[in-house]
Amino acid sequence: MFSRLGYRLQKFMYGRYGNDELSRFLSVTSLILIVVTMILTLFTGPGRLWLNLITLLLYVLSWGLMIWSIVRGFSKNLTQRRKERATYLRLAEKWRAPFRLWKNKHRDRKTHRYFKCKRCHAVLRVPKGKGEIIITCPKCQNKLAKKT
Ligand SMILES: [Zn+2]
Repeated sequence: MFSRLGYRLQKFMYGRYGNDELSRFLSVTSLILIVVTMILTLFTGPGRLWLNLITLLLYVLSWGLMIWSIVRGFSKNLTQRRKERATYLRLAEKWRAPFRLWKNKHRDRKTHRYFKCKRCHAVLRVPKGKGEIIITCPKCQNKLAKKT
């Protein structure tokens, strides 16, 4: 019986988009918001207009995100869903980049120094302890004189 159910589910999902990073992000964010809403509900009540409003908004938002994530999974418009995914990945990368740089700087603090190219803003990583050197930016060939 379960295999038949599995087969029917497979047939139903055929040609549909399914899960991806954006859907996972939406459902996880939704679950976090649901927990936050539940905690806020403990403090809502008469005479607390703003708190009530914010809680209601978060509640609606959390359900909205969950429904969005599910609707994406069942969607047959694969092109549009892939576009959304690409946009999400690009934005997520933009958010993560500063954190990764900070982490790498910390990891390499004894062996390397990091500089920013003034012209193209590329991040340059050079070994420490080489004295005064001229660094050529690999992206735009700009030259920087730096002490390492
Ligand atoms: Zn440069």
